[in-house]
Parts: sequence; C-alpha cells; structure tokens
Amino acid sequence: MILIDGKKEAELLRQELKKEVSDLKEKYNRVPGLTVILIGDLAPSKIYVRNKEKFANEVGLKSDIIRYSESIEEKVVLDKIDELNKNATVSGILVQLPLPKHIDKKKIIEAINPLKDVDGFHPMNVGNLSSGYESSIPCTPMGCYLLIKKIEPNLSGKKAVVVGRSNLNGKPMTQLLLKENCTVTITHSKTKDLKAECLKADIIVAAVGIPELVKGDWVKKDTIVIDVGINKTDKGIVGDVAFDEVSKNAKALTPVPGGVGPMTIACLLKNTIDCFKRSQI
Ligand code: NAP
Repeated sequence: MILIDGKKEAELLRQELKKEVSDLKEKYNRVPGLTVILIGDLAPSKIYVRNKEKFANEVGLKSDIIRYSESIEEKVVLDKIDELNKNATVSGILVQLPLPKHIDKKKIIEAINPLKDVDGFHPMNVGNLSSGYESSIPCTPMGCYLLIKKIEPNLSGKKAVVVGRSNLNGKPMTQLLLKENCTVTITHSKTKDLKAECLKADIIVAAVGIPELVKGDWVKKDTIVIDVGINKTDKGIVGDVAFDEVSKNAKALTPVPGGVGPMTIACLLKNTIDCFKRSQI
C-alpha cells in the first residue's frame, strides 16, 4: 500500500511555487499578494491564518492579514473587500470562514472580485469550474486531485465515488474528476447503500466529517482512497476513513493528519499565483 505523504507533496509544490514567484518577480518587478481577512477569535481560524501567512512568506508572496473583532459590522467588511478589489497589489482575497452569525457569508463571498477569489467559492468560479472553463478551484479538492494524479496520472474511465456533497469539498471534487473523464458517483447522507457504492470505486474521496465512516470491507483491492476528514475524537484527530482496516485493501491512502491538510494551503498559494498571472493578461 502506498502511504500518500501529503506533507512531502505540499513541500514539493511549494518549492515549484517559490521558483514561479521568483520568475514572476523578474518579469513584472512585483510579486503576487494575498490578503486574508480574519474576523473574531476562533482558535482554529487563527491557526489556519497563521499557517497561510507562514507559507505565503516562504514562497515569496506578499502577505497581509486584516483582523477584525467578532462584533465588526458587515458593512465595514464589505467596504474593505471593495477597497481590496480595486487594489492592484492584491492578487488574492480570502475571508476566513466561519463568520460570526450576523455576517452574511453569501454576501461576503459574492463581494469578492471573482478574479481575486482564491478560495474558488464565488458563484462565477463555481459555474466556470462546472462548465470546464478556467477558474479558481477550491483548495482542498484541488489538493486531493493533485495527490490522486500523482498516484494515477491517467484517470480516464476510472470509477470514482465522492462521499459528501458540500460546496467546499464534494461538489468541486466531483467536477475535477469528471474533467478527467472519471465516471463519478456523488453520495451523501441520504444515499441508500453507501458501502455498495464504495465497493464499485477505483477512487474514493471521503469528505463527510464522521470519524472512520469508510470501513475496510467498503473498499475493493487496489482502490485509491483520499481522506479529507478532520475529526477530533477521544483518541485524537482521525479522518473519515478507518485507516488501519482500509490500508489492508487500498492501493494508496492518505493519512490524517499529514495527507490532504498540508496540500490545502499549498493550493491556496497556487491559486494566488494563478490569479496574479490571469490579471497580467
Ligand atoms: P459538510 O459541509 O458538513 O458536508 C458533509 C457532507 O457529508 C454532506 O454532503 C453530507 O450529506 C454528507 N454526509 C453526512 N453524513 C453522511 C453519511 N452518513 N453518509 C454519507 N454522506 C454523509 O462538510 P465539509 O465542509 O465538506 O467537510 C468534511 C470533512 O472534511 C470535515 O471533517 C472537515 O473538517 C474536513 N475538512 C478538511 C479539510 C482539509 O484541508 N483536510 C478542509 C475542509 C474540510 P448531506 O448533504 O445530505 O447533508
């Protein structure tokens, strides 16, 4: 079984991105800039944002964090986004989720210029992805896609099962696999026989949020299994896949932690660079 080393793959991707930033600097005499807006005091959000800044600096991006208190008015955030949309030194804008209840997530996402939407959440980017046009692609599914391609470069005709249909993970993952000519089944909480669906798969991507949902006898021999889940349990952080059981059947499997997670931030940096490049055309 191949243990997919997301940390190593993310490091390799960051090295490529560092070189790309240096080339862009030479060509345009400036570097791509990422601005993150962080609202409130949630510990996980603070950790994510700190890591985003650390790795953005590592690859040579210009990185800024704008911090607001939990009680900030929605209009102040919308005005700031408008200002950043007009600022040519800002290539990518990310508003860290979740937001406080009084702030409308949909309004915030739609306020970001789609060309600077490094999360790929703007409806225009969602539509472009599903139409097969160039777009920002949500970072976690893009990371999963890159890991799958490392194991199996030709996905054409493969049977893929995506477990979970969130806008953040399951739906964009489905679009990426479709683009590669996989036959994709998207499953969710109302799916009648999830085990039977999974047993047909050459590739399983689990993005559910239920600890160790995907069991060893749900996975046929030689399946590539990508575990997006991050679940806090009494025995520590576990994924959506029962790692010990599934590793006996799978061809390749991502661990949790150290699988998909590190790729997510590396793909955010990639999206920032891609937004910069598109803005130069
Ligand atoms: P989400 O928005 O809560 O969506 C979960 C999806 O799973 C929903 O579509 C839901 O179906 C489906 N589901 C729930 N119970 C199910 C069941 N018993 N069988 C089949 N499907 C079921 O979650 P998310 O934001 O996609 O996140 C999923 C997991 O990934 C979480 O553990 C999260 O922490 C993790 N995550 C990791 C990263 C990373 O960088 N590694 C990034 C983001 C998220 P319905 O639509 O029918 O409700």
